[in-house]
Amino acid sequence: MKSFEYARPETEAEAVEFLGTNAGQTVVLAGGTDLVSLMKAELVTPSRVVDLKRIPSLREVTRIDGGVQIGSLATLSDLAQHPLLGGYRSLFDVIDGVRAIQIQGSGTIGGDLCHLPNCWYFRGGYGLLAMDKGVSLPEVGDNRYHAILGNSGPAKFVNASRFAPALIAWGAKVRVISKVDGQKSLSHNSQSSTPNLHEEWLPLEYFYISPKTNAQGNTVLKPGQLISHVWLPDAGNMTSATYEVLQTEGLDWPLASAGVCVDVEGGLVRQARIVMGHVAPTPWLANDAARLLIGQSLNDDTAGMVADAAVSQATPLSMNDYKVQLARTAVKRALLKSVGKLEM
Ligand SMILES: Cc1cc2nc3c(=O)[nH]c(=O)nc-3n(C[C@H](O)[C@H](O)[C@H](O)COP(=O)(O)OP(=O)(O)OC[C@H]3O[C@@H](n4cnc5c(N)ncnc54)[C@H](O)[C@@H]3O)c2cc1C
Repeated sequence: MKSFEYARPETEAEAVEFLGTNAGQTVVLAGGTDLVSLMKAELVTPSRVVDLKRIPSLREVTRIDGGVQIGSLATLSDLAQHPLLGGYRSLFDVIDGVRAIQIQGSGTIGGDLCHLPNCWYFRGGYGLLAMDKGVSLPEVGDNRYHAILGNSGPAKFVNASRFAPALIAWGAKVRVISKVDGQKSLSHNSQSSTPNLHEEWLPLEYFYISPKTNAQGNTVLKPGQLISHVWLPDAGNMTSATYEVLQTEGLDWPLASAGVCVDVEGGLVRQARIVMGHVAPTPWLANDAARLLIGQSLNDDTAGMVADAAVSQATPLSMNDYKVQLARTAVKRALLKSVGKLEM
């Protein structure tokens, strides 16, 4: 591993100061369950690591602004036990699916949201776009775990976050912080309530990108920025579920997943949100499919019809046609699970 400076800030302002704004020079350490492996493999080679674990505000879960705010450093175990999160079943479904208590105890929600792709070409040193001498390796090689949607551009990896589909379905936002004079403005919705700290709340659905170059990364985060908190609106009448298709009973990455939220009144759906995971370089919003549910009763037939619509635009690669059916199953089962109608 390349040698590096280690910084252990105690406030958010100190953290962004240590991060600086030079691209590729510094990196944020949360639970470290993935970052340490990336550094050992020299896929990430920072000159400074900024460890967030001593910043108490990043671990808090509080009720705020008509919703719940979760510090990015909250571990999966913190979330599983928190009374304020009882109404968000789809989050528990995710935690439940990570079947390793060591990871539940040290993996954080911020680390999950910023998890770099598990694409084996990326992990083998070929960059996010997995190019070798101008050739896209997922196009010519083994692409069984790659994207089936949103794969017409150079990025063929799938987004690795397990929480993102559920959180986006809930309409979650992330608080992105940086130095006041550092990188700014992901959108126009920015402000600064703390001296020396620039903050911005961004809907999570706009956080991920499908890069055109390796240097772009897979999120809108610029050098010097980090996620400090995640905010969820009050659950209200919405019910939710996540369904992940996993190959093994133990610790594994989903082959396809879906996070859904529905509001059912008088037996008919009033609102529905469906977001698929592990099928595209970004979490995949199936808004047109979700609209088909409005005014309908949610049952086996309608869930199947909506799941068909959700995958209707899929463009599988040479070896991953099977993922279309898995994604369809994830959507159908998540919908039925959200209203207590999934029979297993
Ligand atoms: C051997 C092993 C196998 C695993 N297998 C699986 C598996 O099969 N399935 C699974 O779901 N999980 C698996 N995990 C766990 C997974 O790594 C974590 O659940 C989680 O994705 C990373 O959380 P972390 O806090 O450890 O992040 P870290 O490793 O600390 O960071 C991950 C990335 O996010 C960035 N980052 C972290 N926090 C922030 C922030 N607040 N703002 C901006 N960037 C940030 C880091 O710079 C880094 O690039 C595994 C872990 C290990 C050690």
